[in-house]
Amino acid sequence: MPSLDDLIDFLDASPSPFHAADSAAQRLLDADFQPLRLAEPWNEVPANGFVVHGGALVAWRRAGGGPFRIVGAHTDSPCLRIKPRPDTGVLGWKQLGVEVYGGVLLNSWLDRDLGIAGRVVFADGSTADVNIDAPICRVAQLAIHLDRDVNERGLVLDKQAHLTPIWGTGTGQPGEFARWLADQADTDQEPSAWELCLYDRSPAAVVGADGSLLASGRIDNQVSCWAATDALLVALDPSGPAVIALFDHEEAGSASTSGAAGPILEQVLERLSIADGLGRDAHFARLAASSCVSADGAHAVHPNYVERHEPDHRPLVNRGPAIKINSNQRYATTSATEAMLQRVFDGAGVPWQRFVSRNNVPCGSTIGPITATRLGIDTVDVGVPQLSMHSARELCGAHDPIWLATGLQAYLLA
Ligand code: ZN
Repeated sequence: MPSLDDLIDFLDASPSPFHAADSAAQRLLDADFQPLRLAEPWNEVPANGFVVHGGALVAWRRAGGGPFRIVGAHTDSPCLRIKPRPDTGVLGWKQLGVEVYGGVLLNSWLDRDLGIAGRVVFADGSTADVNIDAPICRVAQLAIHLDRDVNERGLVLDKQAHLTPIWGTGTGQPGEFARWLADQADTDQEPSAWELCLYDRSPAAVVGADGSLLASGRIDNQVSCWAATDALLVALDPSGPAVIALFDHEEAGSASTSGAAGPILEQVLERLSIADGLGRDAHFARLAASSCVSADGAHAVHPNYVERHEPDHRPLVNRGPAIKINSNQRYATTSATEAMLQRVFDGAGVPWQRFVSRNNVPCGSTIGPITATRLGIDTVDVGVPQLSMHSARELCGAHDPIWLATGLQAYLLA
């Protein structure tokens, strides 16, 4: 039975995509999944195994040469990231230059005590994943006295000028951040490069007088990463091979070696087919018969903005995952894959809903159409309804993630 406490542990332990992949990997290792490396030949492919590449993870349970059942999700979330030469500041403030990653709701990063997490690489090529879980920096909002009509005009933030966090006082020196970082990483070596995210340090919390909601950073899309991992862990005896793919860089368009537009899933599937003794023709036939569930956040109806939602397709919180449909293929759902998932969820006692966006409010997209296009595997998009998508702190129902994990498990076993 998937547990909300385990989801909260996953979210709190995963302030960067690297940490999210590691949170999934740790759970798999605890269940005796064997790690493989992409850069080595796969002479022996374990029944239960996984690979990690950057902030991405692909894991599997082998079970014969039949069609794959795949669950896809993404480990990354919109955030602010530290630039390579971050030391800046003016008039007694030490500041860090940041780059906006993905479609950030900029206002949500103001006036929060921010930690720093991600990957650091040293001159000898060694790497360290760091999580500096301390209130290191803060993007301070302008006082209302200096911005009198902000509430009437709306807050306008310039990405280059207004988001530079303060991380101390005095006069900053070039290289100061790198030296501080080496100190934090407990090494004398100065880092050569890094991929570092700022994150809101507030831990995930159960919210509401009735405890029916979950607030956290990175609900989009670590809730789905957790649900996919949990589903694979508990799907002990699938009737066919079960695969989960947690990609990085979805919020930036997926075009990378660890993104859904890269080759990682395609290559893992082919290597699994080789291990199963299948030739190329049999592998292509296998792909054509396979299916994929692309799990990613959906928009719950917002009580203060009901007019923004399509009146007949407004997902409610705690009424089950929403199947996402878009005839313009922003979502990959087809009538056949939608009906398949309805059948699976119904069989598992998991409630479900449908999401369609308004014609005049274009929806986002997911890894679903990308994996479907790359692999030719029929796909359905589904996800937990949430508010405040792409905020530093998002909100979803406390029950829906459990239903998503239960439904994904049923799919992997079906
Ligand atoms: Zn997402």
